[in-house]
Amino acid sequence: MALEPVEPASEQEEDQSEFKDMRSRFWVSLILTLPVFTTAMLHLTSPLILWGQFILTTPVVLWGGWPFFVRAWQSFQNKSPNMFTLIGMGTGVAYLYSTIAVLWPNIFPGGFINKDGTVAVYFEAATVIITLVLLGQMLELRARHQTGSAIRELLNLAPPTALKINQDRTEELVLVDQVNVGDRLRIKPGEKIPVDGVIVEGQSSVDESMLSGEAMPVQKSTGGRVTGGTVNGVGTFIMKADRVGADTLLAQIVKMVSEAQRSRAPIQNLVDKLAAYFVPAVIISAVMTFIIWSGWGPHPRLVYGLVNAVAVLIIACPCALGLATPMSVMVGVGRGAKAGILIKNALALQSLEKVDTLVFDKTGTLTEGKPRLIGLHTWEPHRKEDLLKWAASLEMASEHPLAAAVINTARELNISLLTPKNIEIHRGLGITGEIDGVHIAIGNRALMDQHQVNLSKGEEKFLDFEKDGQTIMFVARDKNLVGLLGVKDPIKDSTPEAVEDLQDSGVGLTMATGDSLIAAQITARLLNINSYRAQLLPHQKKELVEKLQSQGRKVAMAGDGINDAPALAQADVGIAMGTGTDIAMESSDITLVHGDLKSIAQARKLSHLMMRNIKQNLFFAFIYNSLGIPIAAGILYPVFGILLSPMIAGVAMSFSSVSVIANALRLRKIKI
Ligand SMILES: [Mg+2]
Repeated sequence: MALEPVEPASEQEEDQSEFKDMRSRFWVSLILTLPVFTTAMLHLTSPLILWGQFILTTPVVLWGGWPFFVRAWQSFQNKSPNMFTLIGMGTGVAYLYSTIAVLWPNIFPGGFINKDGTVAVYFEAATVIITLVLLGQMLELRARHQTGSAIRELLNLAPPTALKINQDRTEELVLVDQVNVGDRLRIKPGEKIPVDGVIVEGQSSVDESMLSGEAMPVQKSTGGRVTGGTVNGVGTFIMKADRVGADTLLAQIVKMVSEAQRSRAPIQNLVDKLAAYFVPAVIISAVMTFIIWSGWGPHPRLVYGLVNAVAVLIIACPCALGLATPMSVMVGVGRGAKAGILIKNALALQSLEKVDTLVFDKTGTLTEGKPRLIGLHTWEPHRKEDLLKWAASLEMASEHPLAAAVINTARELNISLLTPKNIEIHRGLGITGEIDGVHIAIGNRALMDQHQVNLSKGEEKFLDFEKDGQTIMFVARDKNLVGLLGVKDPIKDSTPEAVEDLQDSGVGLTMATGDSLIAAQITARLLNINSYRAQLLPHQKKELVEKLQSQGRKVAMAGDGINDAPALAQADVGIAMGTGTDIAMESSDITLVHGDLKSIAQARKLSHLMMRNIKQNLFFAFIYNSLGIPIAAGILYPVFGILLSPMIAGVAMSFSSVSVIANALRLRKIKI
């Protein structure tokens, strides 16, 4: 199928290559950092050691930290300071200062020179910061959303070939992208329909769950529209292709998912928001330090001014900053997985906290998605077991989901089945056959009319079943109505409580279903949902989400079907049922493994606790270094003669990293 260029594969490879790049930078930097860190911790300051540190630090800063300098430079150009501005400034000046101190120690005034003729260096600070930030970046990239697989899976929905009927009536198997508008195609039982078109001969039932999310097959006969990617039932028909390639509905769904995934607004990192204030404050502090020392400090004033201004920039670079978010996210994602909440896009978990509107799919999301036998009524002298036995024995010959519901119940109750004779399937009506020499008919009103069965005694029961949203099958024995079977797709046990909880928490709920208006009304009434839309096609679900977003709402979408995929990709947070289709899961940020809606409330709580943890981490990342800034600026110098030393910088670094890691690990034990 010739589709719009979506390039899913290359995009994913790009993601991977960035991760692999960060990973190799991290490991190399870690190995080089260890000796620098150890010797600095041991306060080894001989010229040989310092030269060694210089040689090991150079690749860590210039190669390992290169991506951060690039981003820092871009942030200066865009005048929007972020985390990398701080990292770039701090590690850059630490490296330059220390390099000058190793190469030309003599240019420093006497007060800076140790007994062995060396000057204190900050190589350790530069290497540790870069290594930790690389670790954070690696964790973040690993957690990042991978687009592409949803698209690939969607493309696989269309069969690769089609059976084309030529002018001379011969049939030929052709590749699906060789099918042209106007071609006649034969569709055999159980086959996927290759392109969109109209039935010109024959009839069948078609599983259109791709479009509607409904498992119940739809009856199609001459003149009926069929859609590429949907699955033919037991009949055979000939269709005339009228939309092929990029024009098919399936291609349009693919396009919608891919566009929605690309157009999502990037979530601004909390770190960057803070950095926007912190960076100017640090620069002002450094400039003030320089002005004060070079104006009123000891001689040589200019050197003292420069060295202390540099010290302010070094200490202000919080090494744990790069870890604050990724650590919490990593632990939070692990905690979610334990509770059956699989988080594919960790950034989306951050937005989940702010979600104020939840759009639900109905079938398979609020409900179980499979019809079940709910109602069973019979009239004396017949027993319910007999009714089930006759019905299930006959329905064994049918592939209809309604039949499956009846057979499953009979199996659960261990009812032994009989072998009927003269079975006839009446497409769109029901099934007839003979059991123990008695003619049995099971089906809808039209089938009963056809067999002249009097339904008057069943009308009252019929209304009861219908009110509950059940699809009714009449059972007749030799033209006498003997019972009613009611089948419906039941609401999941966990749904009512989950819906109530979400309503209590102030989230606006809207149900968006591909099912009929009546079915939507019944479910909405049972669950007290006031806002619902019915008979929506995949693109209409997506438009609904877009409309809510344009009203300034933060929208989460929960769904299970292929028809939900565009809306799931469009929503701020897409939530798929683990019991649903792979495509829905691939298009989503979060998968609820058990398909249990109560997990949404849990995920929201996790999101809330994780955001709080990130904020605490940011506090720890900033606080020790911020306390160091006045020392670096020389506030203690007039009285105690203390200036910033690598030791103070080392203490600030250790305290902040240990606090951040320990705090993030607390998330493992939280109750959600
Ligand atoms: Mg569904």
